[in-house]
Amino acid sequence: MTVTATHVRIKGLVQGVGFRPFVWHLAREEGLTGHVLNDADGVFAEIFGAADRQQRFLERLRCEAPPLSEIVSVETAVLAEPFGAPPQDFQIVESVAGPVTTGIVPDAATCPACLADIFDPANRRHGYAFTNCTHCGPRLSIVTSIPYDRASTSMAAFKMCPECQSEYDDPADRRFHAQPNACPACGPQLWAEAKGTRIETADPIHWAASQLAAGEIIALKGLGGFHLAVDATNDAAVARLREKKNRPDKPLAVMVRDLVQARTICHVNDREAALLEDRTAPIVLLRLRPQSGETPALSGHVAPGLDQCGLMLPATPLHHLLMAAVPGPLVMTSGNRSEDPQVTTNEDARRNLGRIADGFLMHDREIVNRLDDSVMRADRGGPVNLRRARGYAPSPLALHNGFQPRASVLAMGGELKSTFCQLRQASAVVSQHMGDLESRPVLEDYEKTLTLYQHLYDFEPDRIAVDLHQDYVSTQAGRRLAADLHIPLIEVQHHHAHLAACMAEHGLPPCSDPVLGIVLDGSGLGSDGTIWGGEFLVGGYEGFERAGHFLPVALPGGAAAVREPWRNLVAHLRAAFGADWFHSSANSSLRPIFPGKTMDVIEHMIDSGLNTPMASSAGRLFDAVAAALGICAMRQSYEGQTGVLLEALAWPYMQGATAYPVEISSGAPGILSWKVMWDALLSDLARGTATGLIAARFHLGLIKAITALATRLAGDRNIRKIVLSGGVLQNAILADGLFEQLNAQGFDVLVAEKLPANDGGLSLGQAAIAAVQ
Ligand SMILES: [Zn+2]
Ligand SMILES: [Zn+2]
Repeated sequence: MTVTATHVRIKGLVQGVGFRPFVWHLAREEGLTGHVLNDADGVFAEIFGAADRQQRFLERLRCEAPPLSEIVSVETAVLAEPFGAPPQDFQIVESVAGPVTTGIVPDAATCPACLADIFDPANRRHGYAFTNCTHCGPRLSIVTSIPYDRASTSMAAFKMCPECQSEYDDPADRRFHAQPNACPACGPQLWAEAKGTRIETADPIHWAASQLAAGEIIALKGLGGFHLAVDATNDAAVARLREKKNRPDKPLAVMVRDLVQARTICHVNDREAALLEDRTAPIVLLRLRPQSGETPALSGHVAPGLDQCGLMLPATPLHHLLMAAVPGPLVMTSGNRSEDPQVTTNEDARRNLGRIADGFLMHDREIVNRLDDSVMRADRGGPVNLRRARGYAPSPLALHNGFQPRASVLAMGGELKSTFCQLRQASAVVSQHMGDLESRPVLEDYEKTLTLYQHLYDFEPDRIAVDLHQDYVSTQAGRRLAADLHIPLIEVQHHHAHLAACMAEHGLPPCSDPVLGIVLDGSGLGSDGTIWGGEFLVGGYEGFERAGHFLPVALPGGAAAVREPWRNLVAHLRAAFGADWFHSSANSSLRPIFPGKTMDVIEHMIDSGLNTPMASSAGRLFDAVAAALGICAMRQSYEGQTGVLLEALAWPYMQGATAYPVEISSGAPGILSWKVMWDALLSDLARGTATGLIAARFHLGLIKAITALATRLAGDRNIRKIVLSGGVLQNAILADGLFEQLNAQGFDVLVAEKLPANDGGLSLGQAAIAAVQ
């Protein structure tokens, strides 16, 4: 037999995922000798043996790689003879130190093997809530620094017992070098407490289950933060949680034991089932089944007014054990006080959740990095990310190779649903969803995470990218950072960033042909100083032309108009019909919607422009239509509430409904304006048409008009690719309708999938734009 020798270099997410033992097993099975090690670039192996065996080794390397690994590339180099005597066996050798570029993998849901361990009475991990292995368990949530080993995680506090240590040292074991490896004898411990006192019980999970069955609220420490749990079938309990949490309407996520239980609540198709069971274990938005009978599968207080609900399966052994101990689904909402971020420490939980929760399930493993639950939806095109955090961050996104030689960029993101992005060598690491930076604790978290990621990836930017809006906290932070580092600051227009984010995730090259971006959201600062939010942008990373937009309408009170939809209705009706129309008696049917007193103030603000910018916002158009239908007219209690309620109302009426007319100007830029739509809508209202039908006609009108204008703008410029982005396009009726219509016109339609279409994706777009400047 002729022996050859080959160097194999594997790049990607290949450290801390059991890659070396996998290579070790594979080499032994193929009868190869040599060694494998971790180094700064990933995993490196030197293999000796017959050429055909080596070939099979390389094929199996890609096909059978460990579940948490992501191979970016495998490079091989055959060694020239003579290379000396081949080694007698195959070994895992110590890591080679150096600057690490390989990154940290996301946290992963409990694997089937670990699940079997915790439910096996004969196993030493039976009932143990912190069971994990190289294929599952905490990662980003416990990391304090690099290199990723036990000492740089919050598992450093726990010394492995001899049994765990021997698993850790044995390449043949599933727990070989599993950094969070633990067992009941040596690992983190769970306990229950209430009113500041530990509960004397040998089985805290059983205690929590009985409290939940009695309708109590339990705060439990999950993987990336605390959850507040309550029996999801108990109306009084869910209502009490809402009241205590000061969360009147926003839908609550629900944890179900398994797919069978999920299907008693919602319709779950195969793609949705696959998403639920994915190791990322996200919350999946699903369509509710009609609730009937005396024992509904879900309390009506979970998702009031909506036809959808977010379900998730257990992500950790603790969740599995708890779900096995309770009869039905549990509300599992983030443990925080209204707008604060999810609590991560035991002390904060006692302090901040003490007034909400009746009891606690706590443990002594520290959560280093807060990770909210990710939210996904299975759309016609595939899975769509609506909030990207646990299970997904910090997986890098591969951009087009043309980004390889471009500048390294740190992009600071937006203000709401903030993330940041590190772009380097055609790879973009986008942080987990942080939340709204107006909140002090969120900002502190953002700054802490920014520092951590810079260490984890040894990242030094050439440029900083920020939003145009000077008042964004992220813009100010970026400005300071650029000054400190003496590097250029690139300001990026908000909707241009939305466009670029979608282009980047779809791998469009730096100098791509121009695309048409349809970007619909609440608000972002435009290049002309007004507020934009219903935009048709033509261009690419390098720049854009505002080829069309929604009619700018007054935004009386700025931020107040975002909270109070009726203000937008007043502004829209005045824009459509003039000031006098409002005072004619014929239109008095709408008057009860408006609180008489402040009406004059609002009209004065619009006339004078006082604290009343002009906005071409799609979100505010939804607000105005909702207010006209009497939906959240006075106030919406969470961002986007009018949109999701209109969508839910419209859904059953979509078949057979006709679109409202919308006026499309023939000039440049093309402008969509709403007078004829309001005429038709008000007539429908006057004759008592069902609100659901009005909502459906509104959606159809938007889809038809946007498609018509987009077709014209793209046709004029010979553009074949259309990008759909912006938070308003998380409305599935609108997104699916536009996708279908534009596709039917022969366009190649790109939608945000890997990153949210909302401001959670902004940082990637900012980075891509700044990189090509
Ligand atoms: Zn496992
Ligand atoms: Zn142990």
